[in-house]
Amino acid sequence: MPDQKRTGEIVHRGVPVSAGICRGKVLVVAKPQEGEIPRREILESEVPQELARFHEALVRTRQQIQEVQRQVTAGIGAQDASIFDAHLLVLEDSTLIEEVSKAVGRRRVNVEQAFREVTDKYLQALSAIEDDYLRERAADMRDVTGRIMNNLLGQHEVVDLRHLSEPCIIVSHDLTPSTTALLDKRNVLGFATDVGSKTSHTAILARSMHIPAVVALKTITQHLCNGTQILLDGYNGVVVVNPTDQTLFEYGQLAKKQLNLDEKLRTIREDPAITLDGVRLTLSANIESPGDTVAVKAQGADGVGLFRTEFLFLNREKMPDEEEQYQAYRQVAAALKPEPVIIRTLDIGGDKFVEHFGLEQELNPFLGWRAIRFCLTEKALFCKQLRAILRASAEGNVKIMYPMISGTDELDQANALLEECKAELRAAGVAFDSQIEVGVMIEIPSAVLVADALARRVKFFSIGTNDLIQYSLAVDRMNEKIAHLYEPTHPAILRLIKLTVEAARRHGIWVGVCGEMASEPALVPLLLGLGVDELSVTPTQVPQVKFLIRRMKMTDAVKLAEFALGCDSGAEILRRATTLARQVAPLLMEDRA
Ligand code: PEP
Ligand code: MG
Repeated sequence: MPDQKRTGEIVHRGVPVSAGICRGKVLVVAKPQEGEIPRREILESEVPQELARFHEALVRTRQQIQEVQRQVTAGIGAQDASIFDAHLLVLEDSTLIEEVSKAVGRRRVNVEQAFREVTDKYLQALSAIEDDYLRERAADMRDVTGRIMNNLLGQHEVVDLRHLSEPCIIVSHDLTPSTTALLDKRNVLGFATDVGSKTSHTAILARSMHIPAVVALKTITQHLCNGTQILLDGYNGVVVVNPTDQTLFEYGQLAKKQLNLDEKLRTIREDPAITLDGVRLTLSANIESPGDTVAVKAQGADGVGLFRTEFLFLNREKMPDEEEQYQAYRQVAAALKPEPVIIRTLDIGGDKFVEHFGLEQELNPFLGWRAIRFCLTEKALFCKQLRAILRASAEGNVKIMYPMISGTDELDQANALLEECKAELRAAGVAFDSQIEVGVMIEIPSAVLVADALARRVKFFSIGTNDLIQYSLAVDRMNEKIAHLYEPTHPAILRLIKLTVEAARRHGIWVGVCGEMASEPALVPLLLGLGVDELSVTPTQVPQVKFLIRRMKMTDAVKLAEFALGCDSGAEILRRATTLARQVAPLLMEDRA
């Protein structure tokens, strides 16, 4: 339930997934369930705005009916088109319009609610009368009032989120990663959704795109209407309707503090990620498209630790051919060389669903035909990508990484195909890096348990905590109802990370973390204490993580990890980790929920 204060301010709480504060008009893109009309108490000052929305809906409905009339006249004849005159008359019914306006003004409810109550009364009265003519009138009225309601709810148009005419905050039941990737960045100030989670790819994209976002707000779509002014706090997961002057002032202060912090973070952009006691870490960035290299450089990352190539495959009818992929990978490698670029092979499936590639909706998409499993069946498609990556390796410091490896068979099969691709290129005289390094993502518990065998076959591991957590704890990373069980500091997760690091050490290879856990400042010391060599985070998070690393001692991180490995409680581990982060970087941890 939202908190309603005496001031009329209403606060909705959800999960913060992308930092930043924005203020603006709401655009609701989710349709309420059939028959569900949002109910909202309004302030006196909002009455004119609600009435204006009512009049806009009436004008729009008139235009729509006239358009239908024109089409019927052209197609069937003027005689039949005249039946719509009765519909137009309903729109001019002054008693109806007045009653709705009075209900809004006196009872202070949103116009949809007032309109529903008044028209229900009319319809009931008309339907009860035993007269064919009046019953017809009831049908006309139902038709027209339905249209008006649709216009009030914004259901009349399919909003094109790629091209919006004015700045707004998107409010939706959910947003898919493919829709999010195409959002009109200029005009989308932020977004708020009923469902969602921190590690969904939609949230990951919001962070990459620098769009403040709050998810898991449960029923926010039912409480907000188009045009309502809200404030969205992507730091703490809060949406405020009708913010008071005091709230606006407080948020102004928070925004100022954030600007100060950003200024501080900018000064260490070129500095290495090195602890106070001299341990140098690699701090890389996660990217989704070649355009992201600008942010990688601007935020001072040591190259790319995860290039999620599947985003090149979303939002299109045909998959990109080898040449197009080569150009994309080459562009990234050339822009960042000599820094490394780890290109992850296609991780399609799960929430990154591409219907036209032969994928079908599955009962358990995250446990289904996804990532390397898909690629090892669709060999031709996989080899095109491998050849494109190999060719790009001639232009920079490229490494290959396979996702969702569960054991050695998959790795051996993938490597065999890679060797075939190398042989083809060699035969054709095409240049590539013959020493190209191959690594695997450790994101399935079975991979941790056979990590020694995997380590013998690769040059590096990158732990995908987003999936490792969901598969180890049996918690769907997308499901907000069980989000409280999605616990990065669960003792089992920390032990799995430790086992992975130990196996890597035994075989002389390095280990990174590219899941969202690495972007969480409170968890950074813990990961470093567990012995990981690299962190790969959303470009916008690089400065914060670097700031923290540069203020901590590895000896403290190791102590924290030792404590964590002996502790049974994830909550206690999180408390300790947060305390350490607050001690070393209070500025960073301030204002965090
Ligand atoms: C992960 O699972 O942690 C990861 C980085 O991969 P993705 O989020 O793309 O599944
Ligand atoms: Mg993953």
